[in-house]
Amino acid sequence: MPAKYIAAIDQGTTSTRCILFDHTSPIASAQKEHRQIFPQPGWVEHDPIEIWQRTREVIREVCIRANIRKGDIAAVGITNQRETTVVWNRHTGKPYCNAIVWQDTRTKEICDELAREGGQDRFRAKTGLPLATYFSGPKIRWILDNCAGIRAAAESGDAIVGTIDSWLIWNLTGGAHHVTDVTNASRTMLMDLATLDWDDELLRIFNIPRQILPRITSSSDPAGWGTTPAGSCFGEAIPICGNLGDQQAALVGQTCFNPGESKNTYGTGCFVLLNTGTTPVQSKHGLVTTVAYKRGNDPAYYALEGSIAVTGSLVQWLRDSLGLIEKSSDVEALARSVPDNGGVYFVPAFSGLFAPYWRSDARGIIAGMTRFTNTGHIARAALEATALQTRDVIVAMEQDSGVKLSSLRVDGGMAVNELLMQFQADVLGVEVVRPKITETTALGAAYAAGLAIDFWSDLDSLRKNWQRDRAWEPKMAAAQRDECCRQWKKAIDRSLGWIE
Ligand code: ADP
Repeated sequence: MPAKYIAAIDQGTTSTRCILFDHTSPIASAQKEHRQIFPQPGWVEHDPIEIWQRTREVIREVCIRANIRKGDIAAVGITNQRETTVVWNRHTGKPYCNAIVWQDTRTKEICDELAREGGQDRFRAKTGLPLATYFSGPKIRWILDNCAGIRAAAESGDAIVGTIDSWLIWNLTGGAHHVTDVTNASRTMLMDLATLDWDDELLRIFNIPRQILPRITSSSDPAGWGTTPAGSCFGEAIPICGNLGDQQAALVGQTCFNPGESKNTYGTGCFVLLNTGTTPVQSKHGLVTTVAYKRGNDPAYYALEGSIAVTGSLVQWLRDSLGLIEKSSDVEALARSVPDNGGVYFVPAFSGLFAPYWRSDARGIIAGMTRFTNTGHIARAALEATALQTRDVIVAMEQDSGVKLSSLRVDGGMAVNELLMQFQADVLGVEVVRPKITETTALGAAYAAGLAIDFWSDLDSLRKNWQRDRAWEPKMAAAQRDECCRQWKKAIDRSLGWIE
């Protein structure tokens, strides 16, 4: 009997999922949250051991749910929250400290110091990235400089570093493979986009020894990254053949394989990616250039990306820190309790502002409040902030690429929010389309693994799998849209320069 499924492990910012896909759809899934650790204002950490524990649990759970027997699963694909950095001991497997999460701003001083010589775009030509707290290179540097004993352990070869994909593959293969893929490596600020290898000059400037870094591989590779051990959580040896950062995986899951195709994922943050083909396109309007995916020995595909730090996490903040709602999905009813935002604008610059502003000195503000303002207006302004931030990056994308967006493919946890999707279509002035399978991140990881072993024969068979679920057409009058965008820009200006 040929194997029936591909297993995708999606290690996200707030939770870990394992989803089994057959040739057309998801057939079983399991999901577990992990703790968000906030030791100081601006710091965000995860416990890597907890993440590995949750990963094992969701694998076991999904295998039980789907009654998995030996030989049912053909391959494993991994996708992960990007940039989040772990340093661990290669002999014991123990992390030296908590993982520093992509949203963490503690590396601001390192970034400012590096920018003093050559400015914020000093490494952009080589890496596609502006100097910002978001990326892994400054996080690795911070750990090496600040955690007792790690510098010596790195020099002696005991300490090794990786993003969450490396951490999971290392654990899934019983410590046999220390690897990452080109998409994850392109988020470190240490990889040259042209050579797809760690860059010696960058390593010297960041003062990071090469031997602590993982080997960089393709995103989809029949040779893969070894197999899970026979006695592992899968209960047998299964090859790991796919590995992609979560946003690149969603691009693949949405089958945006042609240059000019794009998607927006609404999760903890929002990430718009536009496939630009086999040549990296440098942004002049505040986007980042990143690797989209690489299949085996084929040339890499690149993307322009607009990364927004805080969108779904703002809804969680309304829930957990303000107690305005009980569950995330309640935000829609609360926002619908008022007919409009009542003049309130919410700039959620909790981690500074990412694309297209890249201002780590920005902080969150709620502007335009009066005695009239109620919780409905705050909820509405929070949802509108997601759509308005998305609009800012799409305008930048149109300026960079010279191509006008004709429709936007959406996915992620917030894409179930109908009010948000309608408002998104309204402020963009284009159709917003949601596919039937919204777990596109996990789907992309499954596609990467499945393509490598011919579970799917080619890209066309994947394209046929993409089906439209719902679409939203713009309804807002142009004058109202312009006024809304003007007010939003005013609020953005007020949030800048708060950190002195
Ligand atoms: P990630 O993969 O980044 O962890 P998900 O794609 O699972 O994120 O999306 C989860 C996010 O979506 C959470 O931040 C949550 O607050 C938000 N969310 C979930 N349901 C809704 C909803 N109905 N309306 C708005 N936001 C939602």
